[in-house]
Amino acid sequence: MKEFDYIIIGGGCAGLSLAYELEIHNKLKDKTLAIIEPRLEYKKDKTWSFWKTTDHNFEDCIKKSWKNFSINIPNKTKYLECDKLPYQSIDSGLFYEKINSTLKQNQNISFYKDISEISLNNSFIFNSVPSIRSSENKLWQHFKGVEIETTKNVFDAEIVNLMDFDCKQLDSVHFFYTLPYDNHKALIETTWISHLNNDLEMNYDEQLKNYIENHLNIKNYKINYKEKGAIPLFYPSNINEKNKINIGTAGCMTRLSTGYTFLNIQEHSRFIRENIENIKNVEKYEIRKKYKFLDKVFLNVLNKNPKEMPNVFFKMFNNSPETVIKFLSNKSSILQDLSIILKMPKWIFIKALLK
Ligand SMILES: Cc1cc2nc3c(=O)[nH]c(=O)nc-3n(C[C@H](O)[C@H](O)[C@H](O)COP(=O)(O)OP(=O)(O)OC[C@H]3O[C@@H](n4cnc5c(N)ncnc54)[C@H](O)[C@@H]3O)c2cc1C
Repeated sequence: MKEFDYIIIGGGCAGLSLAYELEIHNKLKDKTLAIIEPRLEYKKDKTWSFWKTTDHNFEDCIKKSWKNFSINIPNKTKYLECDKLPYQSIDSGLFYEKINSTLKQNQNISFYKDISEISLNNSFIFNSVPSIRSSENKLWQHFKGVEIETTKNVFDAEIVNLMDFDCKQLDSVHFFYTLPYDNHKALIETTWISHLNNDLEMNYDEQLKNYIENHLNIKNYKINYKEKGAIPLFYPSNINEKNKINIGTAGCMTRLSTGYTFLNIQEHSRFIRENIENIKNVEKYEIRKKYKFLDKVFLNVLNKNPKEMPNVFFKMFNNSPETVIKFLSNKSSILQDLSIILKMPKWIFIKALLK
């Protein structure tokens, strides 16, 4: 069976980002790479959004960038500006197309559907398939989104509505998220932070319909695209080995308090590329420990006090936009961390800390 210098298991966001990063920096000129990906075809299946706090390779896959966002709880709305750190959305269809058309030009890169088709001996493996045991008692961010097109101009195309908590919470944390692409097109998502729950999931379409028609008061629209997902707000149990590094969700690149993963994947890819010649000996790349600790406390609070969470999120945004964005994007200073912590309701966080 054929052997390769590198094997990437899973050609999704992390696997393809890494392959692309290696390819464009000429790291695959004299090395062979196999990408194992079972999907039969690539098509748009996700919209990856984030505040642009670092450069990345996919500016040309951006569907839209915004300089303003809002968050609201019943009867209160906060508007925030982010012109220096814009909120960007990447179209996964463009991302897959850009990367695959580049990778196919290098004959050192081969594509397989199943790991059993190649030899694993003597290869260094980058794995992006998460190992998730039982999901009982674990928190997930789970959601469904629809991209709708309306007949009238109903959206303010300049403002992302990051979290609209003016909706039923049902003893969980629930909000709607609206990315307006122009005045009559937007992606609208119903998002839950809870244990996986069949009743909520089966109800996604009804939640969206009700929000669009009764809350946003949009009666005439068509649905152009749908996406659905569940992001684990806990770390999968994959372990790095001597000849294997986990990447993406499997490599713990998700910020557990928010589900944001995309830019962490890009930074991890850059780190691997910079160290590829000595990859067996480099230290594990991680999201900084202070964020892991603070996210753990935050999720403890969320688990015990779901009803308080709309207020907690709202209060977090009482800080300057730069402070919150940098905190949520793992780029904050200690002063900015402190500023966030001091805005949080003290008692429920102290109780979560003592747990
Ligand atoms: C719908 C959705 C929207 C999201 N939106 C955002 C966002 O806005 N911002 C953000 O920062 N994060 C977001 N995330 C979180 C995160 O960025 C994505 O989940 C991202 O795709 C994670 O990359 P990954 O490579 O770890 O996983 P994936 O992209 O899922 O890639 C894993 C790949 O492994 C393949 N695979 C599965 N089993 C095997 C196997 N046995 N052998 C080989 N390959 C296999 C799969 O087909 C898949 O292609 C979103 C997640 C989802 C699900």
